[in-house]
Amino acid sequence: MREVPRADVLVIGGGATGAGVAWDAALRGFDVVLVERGDLAEGTSGRFHGLLHSGGRYVVKDPVAAEECVVENAILRRVIPDCIEDTGGLFVTTPDDDPAYGDRFLEGCRAAHLPAEEIDVAEALRREPRLNPAIRRAFTVPDASIDAWKTVWSFARGASAHGARILTYHRVVALHRTDGAVTGARVRNERTGEELDIEAGFTLNASGAWAAQILHMAGIEDVGVVPGKGIMIAMNHRLVNTVINRCTMPADGDILVPVRTVSIIGTTDIHSADPDQIPVTQAEVDQMLDDGERLVPRFREARALRVWAGVRPLFQDARAGAVGDTRDVSRTHAVIDHRERDGVDGLLTMSGGKLTTLRLMAEDLVDAMCAQLGTERPCHTAEERPPGNEDGEPYHLGSRLGRRERTLQEEQLICECELIGRRRLEEAMRARGSTNLDDFRRLLRLGMGPCQGGFCIYRATGILHGVDRLDGAEASASLRGFLQERWKGVWPILYGDQLRQARLDDWIFQGLLDVEHLPSEQEVAP
Ligand SMILES: Cc1cc2nc3c(=O)[nH]c(=O)nc-3n(C[C@H](O)[C@H](O)[C@H](O)COP(=O)(O)OP(=O)(O)OC[C@H]3O[C@@H](n4cnc5c(N)ncnc54)[C@H](O)[C@@H]3O)c2cc1C
Repeated sequence: MREVPRADVLVIGGGATGAGVAWDAALRGFDVVLVERGDLAEGTSGRFHGLLHSGGRYVVKDPVAAEECVVENAILRRVIPDCIEDTGGLFVTTPDDDPAYGDRFLEGCRAAHLPAEEIDVAEALRREPRLNPAIRRAFTVPDASIDAWKTVWSFARGASAHGARILTYHRVVALHRTDGAVTGARVRNERTGEELDIEAGFTLNASGAWAAQILHMAGIEDVGVVPGKGIMIAMNHRLVNTVINRCTMPADGDILVPVRTVSIIGTTDIHSADPDQIPVTQAEVDQMLDDGERLVPRFREARALRVWAGVRPLFQDARAGAVGDTRDVSRTHAVIDHRERDGVDGLLTMSGGKLTTLRLMAEDLVDAMCAQLGTERPCHTAEERPPGNEDGEPYHLGSRLGRRERTLQEEQLICECELIGRRRLEEAMRARGSTNLDDFRRLLRLGMGPCQGGFCIYRATGILHGVDRLDGAEASASLRGFLQERWKGVWPILYGDQLRQARLDDWIFQGLLDVEHLPSEQEVAP
């Protein structure tokens, strides 16, 4: 067993909340260790819809959540501009929606101090020509599109720069308890199988939809997570350049978000018993495509690239009664104080919330910890910019292309869809030291375009082989692992052009490279 590390604060979970908490606590001078069972943002944060909420979605049904979004939307634009594209948003009344809801919507926006304005339908159609011409009302709001991977990595890098240790692929398998207090955790390195004990002054549970599993390790059984599964489909280009919301009570398939070069329709909200078992069904795919038609006619004729599911960390305290529909659970967050609730010291859990409010969630959690520790350390995350955002320049769609054009002839292009050059890929491979090609997908968007890795991933495998000196068998296993992951998101939407693409990819990988029979003793490391 390795040397036992000691930290002031152990953060469990490397999603948006955990990364935000690590950044906040590190900025306040705490010595932090963050543990994540997989890669950063491999949980719900890397499987979300991409929307930086203006708050409009919640103004009628959940005004507290709306007000939080209004404030946090403005702060995140200031502190992590490189992670956000200012697309703006529209709420539109489709022929299936009640036009009178628009008045309640505007009233709610005023109460939440959300700057919304009704515009002529003709103006909305001028701005978004593919929008359903039968819409009856349209309102502008400051919605935006946010890149979760950039956000999480930026906060994690910031935390590291302030001394935090970020341990990916380290799963908490037990919590240590001394005299009724949580004093750290046993973690297992998922790559080597090695176990490690971490002593911590305080443990912050930011494991989202898995939080109840962690609490179970502390003997706390009656805080339940009500996992709300949602599916999303990425269409292969920007059908709209503005976030489009249906102007109605939150429902399924009522938001279309332009994210980089694609647009994403979502989502559903279905109770799921296990956050690790969230399969996509054909009925859900059909429902999503039909919902897309309401906003953009002939939506189904566009090319669907990929479908995936995520699971909302909606909490239900068993002491407060059972939950009905997961849509009725508030989207606000709450710190669960286990000293007060369960008589367990040294442990706090963050419950609920959304990616848009990650900074506020982190602030509330670290404030609650400081209060229990009896120390006053002010929060700086509303002013401090984490790495990658220092120049205050907001992301815009042409950023990557602009950079690429400056070095057009100097560098080999590896991933044409996402414009990733060889140098950037090699640097990332050296810096991360990972043998898992999927880690580089999350980091750089490798293989995320229309060909879903068809043309770039065998090149990237060769480069990984060279850079990391993997042997042939390990490189083959890594390639196969990547292809299997991509396939999961492609097969439920196989129709039209994407079916043709999948056949071509199949010919390349099965026909030319015979990947199924490449020598490989082991499957890819996690
Ligand atoms: C379908 C869908 C769409 C959404 N769309 C939006 C949106 O557009 N805008 C928005 O603001 N919000 C959205 N949300 C909500 C938002 O995505 C989540 O609230 C947010 O990402 C949760 O972040 P988190 O860090 O709390 O959880 P996660 O990102 O899930 O992080 C928790 C981490 O804990 C890790 N973990 C679990 N068990 C262990 C263990 N034993 N040891 C170590 N680590 C462990 C997991 O691997 C995971 O990475 C959406 C949610 C869903 C489901």
